[in-house]
Amino acid sequence: MAGKAGKRVIVFDTTLRDGEQSPGASMNLTEKLEVARALELLGVDVIEAGFPITSQDDFEAVRAISREVRWPAVCGLARCVTKDIDRAAEALAAAKHPRIHVFLATSKIHREFKLRKARHEILRLAVEGVRHAKAAVKDVEFSPEDAARTEPEYLAEVVEAVIAAGATTVNIPDTVGWSTPERFRALIEYLFDTVPNIGQAVIAVHCHDDLGMAVANTLAAVQAGARQIEVTINGIGERAGNAAVEEVVMALNTRPEVFGGCWTGIRTDLLYPTSRLVSRVTGLTVARNKAIVGENAFAHESGIHADGVLKKRTTYEIMDPKSVGLAKSKLVLGKHSGRHQFRQRLKELGFRLKDAEVDALFFGAFKDLADRKKEVFDEDVAALVESEVAHAPETWRLCRLTVATATGGMATATVELEDQAAHEHRRDAATGDGPVDAIFHALERMTHVKLKLEDYQIRAVTSGTEAQGEARIEARHGDRTISGRGVSTDILEASAKAYLNAINRVVSGKAAQAAVKRKKAVG
Ligand SMILES: [Zn+2]
Repeated sequence: MAGKAGKRVIVFDTTLRDGEQSPGASMNLTEKLEVARALELLGVDVIEAGFPITSQDDFEAVRAISREVRWPAVCGLARCVTKDIDRAAEALAAAKHPRIHVFLATSKIHREFKLRKARHEILRLAVEGVRHAKAAVKDVEFSPEDAARTEPEYLAEVVEAVIAAGATTVNIPDTVGWSTPERFRALIEYLFDTVPNIGQAVIAVHCHDDLGMAVANTLAAVQAGARQIEVTINGIGERAGNAAVEEVVMALNTRPEVFGGCWTGIRTDLLYPTSRLVSRVTGLTVARNKAIVGENAFAHESGIHADGVLKKRTTYEIMDPKSVGLAKSKLVLGKHSGRHQFRQRLKELGFRLKDAEVDALFFGAFKDLADRKKEVFDEDVAALVESEVAHAPETWRLCRLTVATATGGMATATVELEDQAAHEHRRDAATGDGPVDAIFHALERMTHVKLKLEDYQIRAVTSGTEAQGEARIEARHGDRTISGRGVSTDILEASAKAYLNAINRVVSGKAAQAAVKRKKAVG
């Protein structure tokens, strides 16, 4: 079947829309822009930037990304409702290649219980939605939501009608992760065999990972002729997530004979740095054993395996770690390393920072670290820059932390913070059930932000007792889940920084909301 549609596969990245819907993964505007720039460098063809009608934040993000990104198409999601489509078109006004993505559920269960509409009504609304979007932009995508559970004959009817109405891409989503590779492949083949005008649109797939088959289903669809894959970095997304771009792309590259030579425009050597970036801004850690981008993906523990790889790499490695941008961890820098060496290393690790920025923001911190820790590894450098880049505008900065513990569990933390807006230092102390509890109490009292801690993790960035510790927290504030991250050679300091990072996110979120309210009040 492949070959019907050429071999180039369009990569539609939905990290900023479906991915951002993962609990705890919300990103602010600065973070979304950083991810969008990284996706452009990575070579994705379409960036789904948000769902503009749902919130002012989503609208602003789609608008800002439309202005920023040049090569990829920028896509905004909309229901088949006039006001949704108009709002998406407004957000995309500045995009060089705007795309509107309209969706409407077609499966029996969604028709009867969610929409309470008959087949012919759904068909009519889908066609009207596509026509309305087409009046605003040339590039229109339609998704029959829950397509994998839709009756195939009805699905074919919908696909034909929306193509006739002007849809240039028709996406077949497995919205609930219900399909299996054979079934999904057969469904796509059925559409190619049945829909007379199918050659006038690109057929896309959007698979969820509820049964762990998102990547397998996506690849099966490519074998059947689908030429757009809807994916996310690290496979993040609703519930169990979406198909992971790094896995689908590397499967196509590593096994061209299985996938008929289908290829994408992805620069694979940027997969690892992009994965790290998304993990950092969302706070969603990548599992060590995750394919392609996990820490252990190219590690050989067994003596027999390690020996084999040393004799010939391909005995146990089907991909070259360098091809996905994974630099081998090595001793790179120390106390005596200069500015030039430090800047050079950052470039190799995928950071795109100006020299002046590196000097002003990070060189001092690197020297401090080199004093505290004799050997500075790649992971240390990355952690240092990642933790220092201010993703939430930093209202509060940690200046000093002293902790005293006593047997019996009681601890006292004395904290000094700088209120960066007011240029004011504040000091306070609190007790708690252990040192971390005492620190968190002190921070809450000083900032007046109360969080409900849901998860707290500490891990070493590299091995050895003088390694840097990374603390991550996840907490509730009202109905939002907020994550925070901090790095230090002292794990209590790392914990304080992580908690403060979450507090800063709450404070900056409130400021943004207040600004929106002010704007609304004005006009
Ligand atoms: Zn989805």
